[in-house]
Amino acid sequence: SGDHVWLDTQPNSEFNVPIGAVVKDSDSGRILLEDDEGKEHWITARNMHMVRLMHPSSVQGVEDMIRLGDLHEAGIVHNLLIRHQEHKIYTYTGSILVAVNPYQLLPLYTVDQIRLYSNKRIGELPPHVFAIADNCYFNMKRNKRDQCCVISGESGAGKTESTKLILQFLAAISGQHSWIEQQVLEANPILEAFGNAKTIRNDNSSRFGKYIDIHFNQNGVIEGARIEQFLLEKSRVCRQAPEERNYHIFYCMLMGMNTEQKKMLNLGTASEYTYLTMGNCTFCDGRNDAKDYAHIRSAMKILTFSDSEHWDISKLLAAILHLGNVEFEAAVYDNLDCSDVMDSPHFSIATKLLEVDSSELQNSLTNLSIIVRGESVSRPLNIVQAADGRDAFVKGIYGRIFLWIVNKINSAIFNPASQKAKGSHHSIGLLDIFGFENFSNNSFEQLCINIANEHLQQFFVRHVFKLEQEEYHAENITWSNIDFTDNHQALEVIALKPMNIISLIDEESKFPKGTDATMLVKINSLHGKSKVYIPPKSVHDTKFGINHFAGVVFYESKDFLEKNRDTLSANVMQVVHSSKNKFLREIFQGLDTTKRLSTLGGQFKQSLEKLMKILEQCQPYFIRCIKPNDYKKPLLFDRELCIKQLRYSGMMETIQIRKAGFPVRYSFEEFFDRYRVLLPWSLRQQNDARQSCISISEAVLGKDESWQAGKTKMFLKDHHDTVLELQRQNIL
Ligand code: ADP
Ligand code: MG
Repeated sequence: SGDHVWLDTQPNSEFNVPIGAVVKDSDSGRILLEDDEGKEHWITARNMHMVRLMHPSSVQGVEDMIRLGDLHEAGIVHNLLIRHQEHKIYTYTGSILVAVNPYQLLPLYTVDQIRLYSNKRIGELPPHVFAIADNCYFNMKRNKRDQCCVISGESGAGKTESTKLILQFLAAISGQHSWIEQQVLEANPILEAFGNAKTIRNDNSSRFGKYIDIHFNQNGVIEGARIEQFLLEKSRVCRQAPEERNYHIFYCMLMGMNTEQKKMLNLGTASEYTYLTMGNCTFCDGRNDAKDYAHIRSAMKILTFSDSEHWDISKLLAAILHLGNVEFEAAVYDNLDCSDVMDSPHFSIATKLLEVDSSELQNSLTNLSIIVRGESVSRPLNIVQAADGRDAFVKGIYGRIFLWIVNKINSAIFNPASQKAKGSHHSIGLLDIFGFENFSNNSFEQLCINIANEHLQQFFVRHVFKLEQEEYHAENITWSNIDFTDNHQALEVIALKPMNIISLIDEESKFPKGTDATMLVKINSLHGKSKVYIPPKSVHDTKFGINHFAGVVFYESKDFLEKNRDTLSANVMQVVHSSKNKFLREIFQGLDTTKRLSTLGGQFKQSLEKLMKILEQCQPYFIRCIKPNDYKKPLLFDRELCIKQLRYSGMMETIQIRKAGFPVRYSFEEFFDRYRVLLPWSLRQQNDARQSCISISEAVLGKDESWQAGKTKMFLKDHHDTVLELQRQNIL
């Protein structure tokens, strides 16, 4: 009784692994077990093979998973589970942080905690996101290198919250409570208002990706920042799934604006607008839209949005809501299906807010002009097409408001001095990008998102496995290779090599006669035999599959080309350009001239590749956020769900390599310069750099195999770095 064991339950699913259990009782030939989830099992002598003794390290749990004696999936998930039950949501794998969403506010982020974690090495204190932030900061200063923190996980796993916590920590420790720090922090509420929404997975789901690069001066003080955004989900402005909302800003505006302002924009309550009620949900428990609006307003002031700029934005947001209530009625002229705008106050209010000519707008929404043999011809649209055109216009407006806002924020927080001083000034970048998506219906947006995740996974695999093992070989380190799942080939087929899938989609989008069907034919003929691509089941099937690192996803190819082209009709653009609303013209201007020829996929690919280049220049940290359940509930740990996430993120192999490997490396010169103080005087006078480094390591880390000296570098474990730094600190 009291023994801890692994219980191998019936493997009825691929995500089932043995569960931890404790022996409660026994009688003639049977034992009673209580498993981690509180369930009781009587095990008879005949079934005793299902039970194995647990390693003591698994009984208590460990802060760093490389110290687990039971280094298997059951051990890992059990370790996370028992820690989660004790509110210990952070666990290391070497210096990689695993963060399990607690779905409740824990007292982990107070000013005292910030103070506690500042200037400590990893492992000195219990695992914490602050420790990662502090080590990024420390390494930036010590190694004089840019750092980045790649935060990954599914929607709702806690990426955005982790990003905010790191930002807060960095602002606090670098700091002087300066204006620029406050500006960097206050950019978030604005971005979230316009780019986050309630979804079934997350009440505050980011519908865009972001990379925040924080710039520090030589003294480690924040001197500016820059935000890069990726691919806002524009379709949400017009359509929301059941129980989901449109972007927060609309509800906040309607709840928070004063009566007089609302009157000027002819605005009512959220329930009156089609665009806000598609998901049948206008409130979100736990959010206070009116209060948030006040916060957004003050954040905008801090980021130097003028009152008139705020009003310009509000006018367009109101125009969007009114346009959404515009309806079309069918008409027949010359035997053609046509449409007319139905009479309603919403249409005239929208034209007033957009400051466009009413008949011109009407005309542009109900007709499409196309160029045929160099001549512009107009073709009437039926009511479905007219409504689609209106939605495209609205998405265009919202998307450009968002880009304008990001630019505006950057113009406030970006400090050109940091660009000039590149080399002596360094930065910490935080990547918070949408996680892998696999819904019942996946479209072009999901493909883009999943490609981004393929890139990030490859970045992770390259750093944690490939480059690392290559270096061991190059340096003649004693090493037996560890197998890992490499998604490089998949990425090549999807996005990198000539004629890759995304480039075929792009090519077909630029081809005037291209359709979703001709696109599929081309992909089939080029990739039909690839292991990565799964062709449609028949000629009538429009769904194709891709074998991603995180599983197979089927995509509905319908509308791919239109979504990728992402253009507005010439008539609508004409209306915009002739508008008297200067702001409307402005948001459509600057961007169109530079990016007109580029497709959505093309732009996304370009910004991703730029991002990957930036990340390659940095020393990376990784945070893996884990969603413990689908119900946003505290203390509920769904083992299967967690195993799934751990498995496809390669956590198993990661722990193995971090346990066996040497993730910390110094050239002999760097090592000797920094740690020679740890060597007794008598041994210091050596001319042989390699031998001196070995002497230091033997003295401080002990004579064993846990560290190695290569040809040009010292190879250490994460905890060695901590030991060395602490001893050095004690001496200096
Ligand atoms: P993601 O960005 O990965 O989609 P979020 O960071 O938005 O997920 O987290 C979703 C929700 O989970 C948050 O709104 C919050 O309620 C909760 N949450 C996440 N991280 C924490 C944390 N460290 N402490 C408390 N609650 C958290
Ligand atoms: Mg998020």
